[in-house]
Amino acid sequence: MSNGQPKRPGPERASTRSSAPPGEPAVVLKAGKEKSLRRRHPWVYATAVSHVTGNPAGGATVAIRATDGTWLAWAAYSPASSIRARVWSFSETDVIDATWMRDRVRVAVAAREELAASGTALRLVFGESDRLPGLIVDRYADQLVTQFQGAGVDAWRDELVVALVEATGCANVFDRSDGATRAREGLPAISGVLAGAEPPETIEVGEHGLRFLVDVRRGHKTGYYVDQRGNRQLARRLSEQFAAQHGHGARALNCFCYTGGFSVAMLAGGAAAVHSIDSSADALRMAREHIRLNGLSEGAATWDESDAFDALRALKAQAAQFDLIVLDPPKFASSHHHVDRAARAYKDINLNALKLLAPGGHLLSFSCSGAIDVDLFQKIVAGAVIDSGVDAWLVQRLAAGSDHPLMMTVPESEYLKGVWLRRVR
Ligand code: SAH
Repeated sequence: MSNGQPKRPGPERASTRSSAPPGEPAVVLKAGKEKSLRRRHPWVYATAVSHVTGNPAGGATVAIRATDGTWLAWAAYSPASSIRARVWSFSETDVIDATWMRDRVRVAVAAREELAASGTALRLVFGESDRLPGLIVDRYADQLVTQFQGAGVDAWRDELVVALVEATGCANVFDRSDGATRAREGLPAISGVLAGAEPPETIEVGEHGLRFLVDVRRGHKTGYYVDQRGNRQLARRLSEQFAAQHGHGARALNCFCYTGGFSVAMLAGGAAAVHSIDSSADALRMAREHIRLNGLSEGAATWDESDAFDALRALKAQAAQFDLIVLDPPKFASSHHHVDRAARAYKDINLNALKLLAPGGHLLSFSCSGAIDVDLFQKIVAGAVIDSGVDAWLVQRLAAGSDHPLMMTVPESEYLKGVWLRRVR
């Protein structure tokens, strides 16, 4: 990968030079548009760009400069994206090369070491939070699964794969760069083996002592919702508490269940019955398999392959009641343009779930829409609480696990948010 930087940082490059060398690949910002970079937010929107010099290719390293020529950051150029550049580094002396990539990967992998006890499905690299914008790497046992969601990490793909294998000791790397984000970057959807062998049909992972199968080829995202690990554990704990307090298991509802992660957790916690809803027959097939794999009672699990909006209404019509409810829908708002419609959808499912919640019952309600922030989500759910006519406590706000750290300078990294509500008796 070539870029506009000198090979080695000379002493002259450490200066606070404010003029660009002639022909330098650089993105020069409009007046005043450097403010977010000064706050170390790593995205340069196309609307902030005055002009581009040096004719950089997609993925090439460019300098980001203010209107007066002041150097602001090294970034990856992404000509087709509305995020025209993603920052690698805010330090002028950094050289963006294979060694730099290796260091970032090593730091990211080492930061997850303490999580090894929680299971064998972990996010190892979380994009901007690991200062590798656009790169997602999940580990499933000895298999790594990647998503290259930006032109910069895409250009450094080979070097990053070598670095990942070296840092983890995992020989097998499978790529699932087939999500919607790549299209927005002008990159083709691709998937396949990047290193080692073809992955097996399914890979078994452990999560807090429970067993799950991951289909890295066809599963959602990289195959599994690693981000909900801690919240599945919370659901299990609530199920255990209910059984201990009442002498019998909880009635649980898992809406948008995918491969049954929360269902397994709540059954393992002693729930008497778990009703799970998802529109995907493949996901439900795998979910049933997970009940067997964990030696749980198949008779305690019921499945509904249908649209959750309709299914919740039908349960309400039957006056069903649940002690534990999980609502973990897909991303309703794919961008800021869809926030209003998404808000109505979140409100609808939360309102109906609240009507199904028994007095004293718990509702874990999530949103993974990046365009809907924590405060807005809480407001939407509060609206549902008002309309439902029940009183509810906000016990705690929920988020992804610590393998998805929130970068303080990048609020967008908090895409998964949740509220844990309890219906007041
Ligand atoms: N809670 C899950 C992840 C849920 S992902 C876990 O812990 O693994 C969201 C799920 O919603 C997907 O499985 C998808 O198939 C399902 N889904 C999407 N739209 C739906 C709809 N309208 N009705 C029911 N399920 C839906």
